[in-house]
Amino acid sequence: MSSSNQTIAVRSGIESDQQFGAVTPPLYLSSNYTFADLEQPRQYDYSRSGNPTRDTLADTLAQLEAGCGGVITSSGMSAIYLVTHLCDKDDVIIAPHDCYGGTYRLLNSLAERGRFKVEFVDQGCDESIQQALQGKPKLIWIETPSNPLLRVVDIQNICELAGQDIIKVVDNTFLSPVLQQPLTLGADIVVHSTTKYINGHSDVVGGAVIAKEQALFEQLAWWANCIGVTGSPFDSFITSRGLRTLSVRMRQHQENTQKVIEYLQQQPLVKNIYYPGLESHPSHQIAKKQQLGFGAMLSFELEIKGANLRTFVNSLSLFSLAESLGGVESLICHPATMTHAAMDPAARLKAGISNSLLRLSVGIEDADDLVRDLDSAFQRCQIKVLQGEQHG
Ligand SMILES: *Cc1c(COP(=O)(O)O)cnc(C)c1O
Repeated sequence: MSSSNQTIAVRSGIESDQQFGAVTPPLYLSSNYTFADLEQPRQYDYSRSGNPTRDTLADTLAQLEAGCGGVITSSGMSAIYLVTHLCDKDDVIIAPHDCYGGTYRLLNSLAERGRFKVEFVDQGCDESIQQALQGKPKLIWIETPSNPLLRVVDIQNICELAGQDIIKVVDNTFLSPVLQQPLTLGADIVVHSTTKYINGHSDVVGGAVIAKEQALFEQLAWWANCIGVTGSPFDSFITSRGLRTLSVRMRQHQENTQKVIEYLQQQPLVKNIYYPGLESHPSHQIAKKQQLGFGAMLSFELEIKGANLRTFVNSLSLFSLAESLGGVESLICHPATMTHAAMDPAARLKAGISNSLLRLSVGIEDADDLVRDLDSAFQRCQIKVLQGEQHG
């Protein structure tokens, strides 16, 4: 009998304890394990290489992503770093030009050290991908939806263009396996920052790499142990706890997002809304085809600038001004000065990230409260705008 993802996540490791019949699996913090006898190791010997608590999380995530095995890492970045170990110094990695900033920095810095070669391309454009494929890359890195403009690329199409011989990797952080399953769309590897939706409570930094086939999984597990990027048992325990409610959280996240969007659409101080669920969004059709939902990340531009943007952000009490995303609490972020501050201003503008762009990670508070909070912040701005006009 095959269970749905919701059931798999809820039942992860439940009733697996042989010793006491604990319903919830225990947390094994031990760094090492006794040998039963000389030359008789047990299933586990050392927690960098293997740990029961971490393995429970890895197996569950592998099931959720329809993979054959997973490696739990200490962060999303160490998950990405782990995947780069599949490449030799002459291998080429193709990555999206608008990928997560940390991914861009890592791939660039390692390429500068001669670890591999990297080429950043606009993956929304078939010709650009085809041109990059002429260089016979070893690996193609895909990330969809993008941050912070929520551009969606067609995973299946890119995987087909790439063909059998190229390792196709998808960073699935923004949607989680509940809303997108890249391995069923042709990818070989899925990467997560479990810091975001998978843990969902903003209290762990962690990552995961899930492989579709055994051979790749074994290479990844070997390197994870070799370089020592495996996640801690405690973090794995907390993450497993968060993961149990992933499906219900995603449902509420999306329901709230819908209401927030409906409000923003009527708000005259909002210029553009970037959300794949909107029919006006350039990649709405692709999102509809490959995603099981439109997610809970969105961004929008304000008509107001400078001090008024500050007034707006400071007037909010239910959207905390912070980076990161995917927790139960709602967050607001100003990409130009926060997540994308390291980009030079010209490149930022070219990428469509204006100074009046704000990004929301919609949480699971009561949706009406969230809308009221936004509304009162907009009202304050409106007053300021009117005052400004009078004085000007
Ligand atoms: C946060 C994030 C990462 C990095 O993960 P950390 O857990 O912060 O190391 C990678 N990719 C995406 C899409 C992210 O949002």
